[in-house]
Amino acid sequence: MADAESHHHLALTDWRKGIAPVSKGKRVSQRVLLPPEYPTGEFDDDRTTMGKDMVGFHLSGKCPVCKHDSSAVCATRYLANEQHDDGESRDRYQVTALKCACVEDHTSEEQPAPLTFGCGAEWLLKVSWSHDNADVTVKKESVLDDEAWKAWAAADANGAAIPSTLTTYQGVAGKWQAALTAIVALVSVGTLLTGRSAFQSLATGWQVGLIAALAVAVLGNAAVLWKSDLASFGFPTLKYAVQSVKNLPNADLAPLTLAKKAEDQMWSSFGFAIPTILASMAAIAILLFVGPAPPTASYKVTEKLGTVSTTTPCGHFTNYVPYTSPVPAALQFTPNIAGAETVTLDGTNITTIESC
Ligand SMILES: [Zn+2]
Ligand SMILES: [Zn+2]
Repeated sequence: MADAESHHHLALTDWRKGIAPVSKGKRVSQRVLLPPEYPTGEFDDDRTTMGKDMVGFHLSGKCPVCKHDSSAVCATRYLANEQHDDGESRDRYQVTALKCACVEDHTSEEQPAPLTFGCGAEWLLKVSWSHDNADVTVKKESVLDDEAWKAWAAADANGAAIPSTLTTYQGVAGKWQAALTAIVALVSVGTLLTGRSAFQSLATGWQVGLIAALAVAVLGNAAVLWKSDLASFGFPTLKYAVQSVKNLPNADLAPLTLAKKAEDQMWSSFGFAIPTILASMAAIAILLFVGPAPPTASYKVTEKLGTVSTTTPCGHFTNYVPYTSPVPAALQFTPNIAGAETVTLDGTNITTIESC
């Protein structure tokens, strides 16, 4: 009891008059307002180990009530507020609620099994940092009475929401996936693929264009579905799911990290939807508005060799359109008969060219 007694006296300082000190065998459940003179700089953080794209960082230090080591997550992504540069490049701030998570025994006869770790104390810190420069030290300040009453419930709710961030986002992604699928289905690629005879009637240039448009549409559509599947269900391997929690100190940030990944995947799914829709529209336009290639015109040619006139069967020329220019000296002609070979006619012998 002597030990508990001395701890009691040590813990009770002027600024905490009115706060019940806590020692081994006692558990409190209280919100602690840190006074302006509290040494908030003694709280440590791992901001420097997080990149520019961080989802959050950890704060650690002594619990102001039980004085045991404790650490907490400061989830910055989605929750950080922008502020004017404070002169030292800190352009983001956030009021975060820290709950004592010490591993000491604070159970007692009245409270034999604590619901959580720690002594039950909870306090607020205002942290500010630079969003793009990890080397700028994080500033930690007390949150004063007039701000605390407004911030506390919200900060609590934010902290409680972290573990379910991924699930929440996957729910959102699933709904967006359905919406995207519906939009892409409007310009349905599947039905376009059935128009075989329509395809064959197109001129070669348009056929190439249609194939290119359909290829983009089909591949784009596959990418849209793949990316949105990843966003709403995650990568289909356990290894992927476990990887982000393998790094134990950051495991508490994993739901946020994975939610951010899912969000990025949803955005790239959106990105792929754009070329998919454009290519589908191009394919539809080609099929609807480009008419069938004109049938090759047929002619029969009459040649005079000496006194004998001969007339060919109906056929077509290669690279010559009759009546538009003088008959060239050599003319490639193919009779419209299965298996007929192309012959070269001497232009000077040709007397008439008739359509047929
Ligand atoms: Zn403790
Ligand atoms: Zn504590």
